[in-house]
Amino acid sequence: MEAAVRHAPLEEFRQQVAGCTRCALAQGRTQVVFGVGDPEADLMFVGEAPGFHEDKQGYPFVGQAGKLLDKLLAGIGLERGNVYIANVLKCRPPGNRDPAPDEIQACESHLFRQIELIQPRVVATLGNFATKLLSGKPTGITRVHGAEQEVTLGGSRVLLYPLYHPAAALYTPRMLQVLEQDFARLPELLGRPPAEPVPVEPLLAPVAAEPAAVQLGLF
Ligand code: URA
Repeated sequence: MEAAVRHAPLEEFRQQVAGCTRCALAQGRTQVVFGVGDPEADLMFVGEAPGFHEDKQGYPFVGQAGKLLDKLLAGIGLERGNVYIANVLKCRPPGNRDPAPDEIQACESHLFRQIELIQPRVVATLGNFATKLLSGKPTGITRVHGAEQEVTLGGSRVLLYPLYHPAAALYTPRMLQVLEQDFARLPELLGRPPAEPVPVEPLLAPVAAEPAAVQLGLF
């Protein structure tokens, strides 16, 4: 799809979300942290939630974890401008606590709409919250990291690729090593041909429409 065709709807959507009051996090935020990057990206990253610096600056992953993400991207020949980066939550939880289930529920349609508009080929989830939300399964990141799965997100087939969260890897050398190894597979995943759409089977045999008069209860 032409770049211009997708830029405008994503920008329009960003403006709508900027005023979101779907959950209580709206009261404590400096601003909504919508996401950043190429609206045409083949590769999208989904983190957890904005932290202190992200809330102040309005962009995801601008702190220490973001610096590591930039370094990992550089290691595979990419930079921020080549990918799209968003979070499960668009507003900062106080004290950087974990996202609460009601906040995830209130916010998730924003993320699904972003995916629908960007149509990435690969969605790399960073950490447990993004992985569980987008896989629809409770299996934790320790078990599923580095294992790509084909899923339908935002109406398209994408490769979901769970990765350790860079913030966790900052303090655990073994995790950083695994994150680097998993990251190194991204170019191969991006080079795969797009997954075939899964044919949608009708759940029930089509029912013959009743004549309008019957529907209206006239007979
Ligand atoms: N951690 C996240 O998950 N997202 C950010 O934007 C920053 C840190």
